[in-house]
Amino acid sequence: MSSASPKTPLYKVRNSKIHGRGVFAARRIRKGTKVIEYVGERVSHAEADRRYEDKAPDDNHTFLFIVDGRTVIDAGVDGNEARFINHACDPNCETVTEQRRIFIYATRTIQPGEELSYDYQIKRDRGDPPELDQVFACHCGAANCRGTMIQPPDKPKRKSKAKTKAKAKAKTKAKTKAKAKAKTKAKAERHAHGRSVR
Ligand SMILES: [Zn+2]
Repeated sequence: MSSASPKTPLYKVRNSKIHGRGVFAARRIRKGTKVIEYVGERVSHAEADRRYEDKAPDDNHTFLFIVDGRTVIDAGVDGNEARFINHACDPNCETVTEQRRIFIYATRTIQPGEELSYDYQIKRDRGDPPELDQVFACHCGAANCRGTMIQPPDKPKRKSKAKTKAKAKAKTKAKTKAKAKAKTKAKAERHAHGRSVR
């Protein structure tokens, strides 16, 4: 689809202004492009909890992505570049679950050098402390930045036009959105897709 050489990688990892390392378009990525799969070891929620419950709260070297009620992808094991994609409140990508695998699609055309991002949609659970918003503070710089990666409670779940269109364009049969989920504060700090909390 792109006019660039097919040999040119779509993206590269480098330092991000948003946070830590990020993933950047190495050439133009057309809207609807399936950019990358979020891979890693597939484990149960219990196993993910077990793995990270002993880690310090500020340990950012965990990359957990909730697939569904059964499965969590731990990109800390056999993960790829997808684990470095930052959260943003006005993102240019989205995550789509296809047959229990997670793919990241461009929801608009992305120019070379632009940082890739998607909305982590970290879900607040009953009993989560108010400071969870700060734990997941967002510095994406978008005009509509909500200041946190936590999904607002009242907001309809990602029914943006962009998403709907991108999905149609991608011609996928995506059923559900993958969501980062935080059950407790302690656990939440380990569900931040590897972004350290600062
Ligand atoms: Zn933001």
